[in-house]
Amino acid sequence: MLIEHGSLTRVASAILQGAGAPAEHADAVAAHLVEANLKGHDSHGVGMVPSYVKGMLDKQVDPHGHITIQRDNGAIVSVDGGTGLGRIVGFEAMDLGIAKAKDFGIACVALGNAAHLGRIGAFAEYCADEGLVSMHYVNVVGHDPMVVAFGGRDRRFITNPYCCAVPRKNGQHIVLDMATTTVAAGKVRVAHMKGVPVPAQSLVDEDGVETNDPAVIFGKTPTGAMQPFGAHKGYGLMVICEMLGGALGGLFTMQPEHPRLGATLNNMLSILIDPKAVGDLDDFDQEVSAMADYIYASTPATGTDRVRLPGDPEKETQAQRIANGAEIDPNSWQSVLNAAEQAGLNRETVAAMADISEA
Ligand code: NAD
Repeated sequence: MLIEHGSLTRVASAILQGAGAPAEHADAVAAHLVEANLKGHDSHGVGMVPSYVKGMLDKQVDPHGHITIQRDNGAIVSVDGGTGLGRIVGFEAMDLGIAKAKDFGIACVALGNAAHLGRIGAFAEYCADEGLVSMHYVNVVGHDPMVVAFGGRDRRFITNPYCCAVPRKNGQHIVLDMATTTVAAGKVRVAHMKGVPVPAQSLVDEDGVETNDPAVIFGKTPTGAMQPFGAHKGYGLMVICEMLGGALGGLFTMQPEHPRLGATLNNMLSILIDPKAVGDLDDFDQEVSAMADYIYASTPATGTDRVRLPGDPEKETQAQRIANGAEIDPNSWQSVLNAAEQAGLNRETVAAMADISEA
């Protein structure tokens, strides 16, 4: 089913408000989730509403939360997210980092203990719109691990995303935004909801043998695990995200002394660089454009329509989905309506708010 994005945002906001979020926070979080749907990352879209509602109702997520500064060392600042909604405390942390990067040429922001940050690209795009390069090392904590270490069988990590954006004056920023697993956990959940297999090298079963059945993660009795992408190299980046995002960013890694109460929390270490502090901005922008053009001029491989830069698929999907509506699978939609009921709203009233058409 396709849902017009404005009506989907109103639905998500109403449910989040029903679960206790102030209207301003609910609207911002709803827009953040729907933007993920529009960019093609349904795993981080309104399908997350049920877990956000549960987190708030269980009092593991503070819907009113804001950052508090723990330590301010000039270009480096540490903030505690206080389990506030990730979109809210994450943008507050970026506002601090942007101001500092403009003052010092570089800034480092350590954000600990944020509720789920969602699509990390949103934070990098926010910095890029201010003309800043940014890198974001993120770990995921708060529930049991789902991902094996390279060469091991036991679960040790969640899906630690890494993101880096290169700003461009024309607004066509280059945005690498990815889980360090072959697929994001939410994509395994969506595949399970849809009853379809996941891509190769995504999962292992209880024997450590590769499988494409999402039920080993999201079935009634999970027995398998997810895999880091790219063998030892992707695994290495996953470890770095754990150590920089988790240990340095929030003193909160997946090591077993920390609580795992069920809500998804993130810690994020962000490094922001003002290209103007490095050299001439026009020269940098021209060099980036010249290299981008050179990459785009590649002859496509057989079966590929054209060569893209990181961030291009999201831009293409967003244009198409703004025009036609965001695609929501029926199981995910029913979960959203269940969450509406849990938040004290009438299911039919909420369903009627959505402008739905068939895919
Ligand atoms: P993905 O595999 O769809 O894309 C990863 C990157 O590859 C993107 O930058 C994309 O633009 C680029 N890309 C894809 N196809 C391309 C092509 N043909 N040519 C050039 N570049 C291409 O993303 P993912 O790993 O599934 O991650 C999905 C989302 O999940 C991300 O937004 C990430 O931030 C989010 N995430 C969040 C958390 C969290 O705890 N908050 C955890 C994991 C993932």
